[in-house]
Amino acid sequence: MSYFVHESSYIDENVSIGDGTKIWHFCHVQTGAQIGERCSLGQNVNIANHVKIGNGVKIQNNVSVYEGVEIEDDVFCGPSMVFTNDLTPRSKYPKGASAYKKTLIKTGASIGANATIVCGTTVGEWAMIAAGAVVTKNVKPHALMVGIPALQKGWACECGSTLDLRLACPACGRKYEKSHDQITEID
Ligand SMILES: [Zn+2]
Repeated sequence: MSYFVHESSYIDENVSIGDGTKIWHFCHVQTGAQIGERCSLGQNVNIANHVKIGNGVKIQNNVSVYEGVEIEDDVFCGPSMVFTNDLTPRSKYPKGASAYKKTLIKTGASIGANATIVCGTTVGEWAMIAAGAVVTKNVKPHALMVGIPALQKGWACECGSTLDLRLACPACGRKYEKSHDQITEID
């Protein structure tokens, strides 16, 4: 076995786990889940049935990734952040898995501690979701999203720092240009 699972965690059947992945204490990975290489699942993480997670993903303590959520490569899920998969849940009228709203977290995005991603949304590449934010709509690539409901307050560099008004990064020096209200890196 080329990955690590702490003895306190449960891995159900038909799960695939990539090389170098570490699954720490009190986790549960449910049937049909796919977890890529070099991922880290902190304490008390639940990966629901058929969830797909890319490579290099870090999931901090106390996160449940419910069915209907897909996570691409190098995503960061901060401690106790929340996913959902039903906009109008009723205990008396369960919809079943086929009715779950899909949520997609694209490559490199970061979700801060205690943030909530309401289902049916896509979070773009390298977006930065602040701690405690509640995301209710699609998020553009590199957008910095803050508050409840989350609003865009700026742009985040691939390295994580906030870009200045000229769309340059004060930390790493990457430069971006804007077109159609989206930014792309200038080589
Ligand atoms: Zn940067």
